[in-house]
Amino acid sequence: MRYAGKAFLIRAMAKLIHDEGIGLDVVSEGELYTALSAGFPPSDIEMNGNAKSRREIQYSVDSGVGRIIVDHPDELKTIEEYAEKAGRVQRVMIRVAPGVDAHTHKYIATGSTDSKFGVPADSREGSMLTEAIRFARTCPHIDMTGLHFHVGSQLFETEDFTKSVEVILRLMKSLKDNLNFTTHELNMGGGFGAVINPSIPAMKSEFYTEPMMKTLVDGCKSYGLEIPCAILEPGRWIISEAGITLYTVENVRELPEITYIAVNGGMSDNPRYALYQAEYNAVKIDDVDGEIYRPSNGGKVSIVGKCCESGDILIDDAEIQRVKAGDVIALYNTGAYTFSMSSTYNCLPRPAVVFVENGEAKVVAERQSLEDIIRGQSV
Ligand SMILES: *Cc1c(COP(=O)(O)O)cnc(C)c1O
Repeated sequence: MRYAGKAFLIRAMAKLIHDEGIGLDVVSEGELYTALSAGFPPSDIEMNGNAKSRREIQYSVDSGVGRIIVDHPDELKTIEEYAEKAGRVQRVMIRVAPGVDAHTHKYIATGSTDSKFGVPADSREGSMLTEAIRFARTCPHIDMTGLHFHVGSQLFETEDFTKSVEVILRLMKSLKDNLNFTTHELNMGGGFGAVINPSIPAMKSEFYTEPMMKTLVDGCKSYGLEIPCAILEPGRWIISEAGITLYTVENVRELPEITYIAVNGGMSDNPRYALYQAEYNAVKIDDVDGEIYRPSNGGKVSIVGKCCESGDILIDDAEIQRVKAGDVIALYNTGAYTFSMSSTYNCLPRPAVVFVENGEAKVVAERQSLEDIIRGQSV
């Protein structure tokens, strides 16, 4: 199991993930640097990413990352060059697009054959994939251990996963028959759905892994293939529920059709509604079980941010207790893709991150200061 660090990665999170015995998937030199600075063992890290720079590849090889997930065949030349210089053999896997259109928002679907990620799962002679495997074999400092795919995110059914595994099995079989290529490792990506509504618990991992593993094992048996070491790398499923964002209400604006609750943050700390209409739940923290506020005019209640965009919405149609300026509200399930996607839009400093365990709170990322906003700038 690996954790997809892009969901939320700060040094304390890297440490926590390592302490839990989980590996890490990173997609940039910044993520790799963050993890290494927290003492994460490089051999438990894999470097992913659809547009790795030469410097990122060099940094990955020199740091000794366990695997580089090759997303474009051109990477192989660069990996060989730096691995030779470093005098080591770099393990790599190749990312394929299984051609399964995940049932999710198109911005988080990544597995179709026209995706910007990976090489098409096509084993015909002369395809990108067969050429890449052939080329890798000519590289003495590259060891290609297997295949990687990631079909999409926020999936609540298992069909997209099992369909992808079926495609990959056929691919594994023809790569074995045509190129004598053995898939020793198969990374099946992430994408397990994270809870939206706290009253509905998350699916257990077995909900996804049992049908995936059954498809894989049965398929390998019927095709006469070696069963590869199976790897998963969920992000949001691991961290989403662990995160709660606290906001202070700045004002409440009751208009004839709609009531706006405006808070002291917004798309700068959580752009996910603006990006792909992510859904959230909120409560007034000192009145969690209180009655839901229904404006007398029958209009909806929207929780909005303080950024200068009408699309700066946190919850479009919220169910929340009556609040007034100064009240604190909590948004649940904000652990994934919020802090990691945050910006300083409108020169708003990033919020602090606080870990809470057994009633004890610890600041693990300080709230940004105004000096942080202008750091490195000159006039
Ligand atoms: C984004 C991503 C993940 C994690 O996705 P989640 O939906 O957060 O589980 C895993 N692997 C790859 C390659 C990704 O791009």
